[in-house]
Amino acid sequence: MTADSQHPTLVPVVDGFAGAVGQTPLIRLRRASEATGCEILGKAEFMNPGGSVKDRAALGIIEDAERRGQLVPGEPGTVVEGTAGNTGIGLTLVANARGYKSIIVVPETQSREKLDFLRMIGADLRLVQPKPLRDPGHYVNTSRRIAEEMAAGGERVVWANQFGNLANGEAHEKTTGPEIWDRTEGRVDAFTCSCGTGGTLAGVARFLKGKKPGVRIVLADPMGSGLYSWVKTGEVKAEGNSITEGIGQATAVPGNLEPARGVIDDAVQVPDPEALEQVFDLLQHEGLSIGGSAGINVAAAIRVARQMGPGHTVVTILCDGGARYQSKLFNPEFLRARDLPVPSWLA
Ligand code: PMP
Repeated sequence: MTADSQHPTLVPVVDGFAGAVGQTPLIRLRRASEATGCEILGKAEFMNPGGSVKDRAALGIIEDAERRGQLVPGEPGTVVEGTAGNTGIGLTLVANARGYKSIIVVPETQSREKLDFLRMIGADLRLVQPKPLRDPGHYVNTSRRIAEEMAAGGERVVWANQFGNLANGEAHEKTTGPEIWDRTEGRVDAFTCSCGTGGTLAGVARFLKGKKPGVRIVLADPMGSGLYSWVKTGEVKAEGNSITEGIGQATAVPGNLEPARGVIDDAVQVPDPEALEQVFDLLQHEGLSIGGSAGINVAAAIRVARQMGPGHTVVTILCDGGARYQSKLFNPEFLRARDLPVPSWLA
C-alpha cells in the first residue's frame, strides 16, 4: 500500500488466521451506484482468509466454545458442523490454527470446488444426500448426532450449531456492523443481505439499528425460500427454486434470525437471472468475482436504492467469490440446462 492510494497507510500486523478475519474493504459498486443515483457499497467478505463471510461466525463460535471450556487450546478437541460449505471451511481453518480437528457434514449437491477445498484443508468430510430438515439424515441433524455420539464416548467435542448458536450473530454484531458504521462514517441509510443462518443479517441489523433507528434493514431472499413471506406476513411459505448456495430456508426460521424480526423492515425476492446479471456484470466491468448469494445481495441493493430514491447509501455483503462456483455459475452447460443466461465471454 502506498501513501497516495485511497487506502490508509497504517495496516497493523496481525496474528495468524484469527487476526486476518474481518476489516474487509467496503467497495463502491460503480455501475449499480450510477444506475440508481445512490452510493451502493459491497463489503468484500470474499477477502477473509477462508474466502467467505462465514470466517467471522466460525471464529466467533470457536472462541465462545473456548470461553465456556468446551474446547481448550493446546488440548485435543473436535468441532463438528453441518454446513453448505463455507462455515465448514472457516471452522476447519480456525481448528487447524488452534490444534483441533473438524468433522464437516455437507449435502453432496454443494459445489465441487467447496467440497474439494474442504478435503484439501484437512476436514473430515462427510457427504450426505439432501433431505428435508425434519429428516434425521438432514446434514444439520447428522452433524448433531455425530457430536452427541462422540461426547457420549467421552471425547471433547463441540457441535458448532451455526443456525441456533447465538455466538454466530454476535460475531457480526461485534465486527461486521461496527466496520460498516465506521467506514461509512454513519452515512449508511440501508442494509440488505440474504440469510442462511441469519447471523450476518441479524447481527449487522442489531448494531446499525442501535446506532441509527431509521436505517432500513431489508432481507434479500432467493426463490425457493420461505423467509421472504415470513418477513412480509409472518408465515414461512416457499415457492420456486434457486441455484444459489448457502442462503434461503424453505421451512423454518433459524434461531439466529428469529429474534431479529422486529428490526427487519422489509424483504425482496430475487430470481436467479437477476442475481446472475450482477455476478457477470461485476466481473466483466468492475473486475469483481463474486458468488451467487452476493449476486442476490447486489440485485437487492439496487432494488432498495430504487425504492428509496437517489442520494442514499445502501450497503450489502459480497459473501464469497466466484471461484467457489466455477463448475456451476460459470459453466455454460450447467447454465443452459437451467435456461439461465451464459456470460458472453464463455458462450
Ligand atoms: N452466502 C454464502 C455463500 C454462504 O455460504 C452463507 C452461509 N451459509 C451465507 C451467504 C449466509 O450467511 P449467514 O449464515 O450469516 O446468514
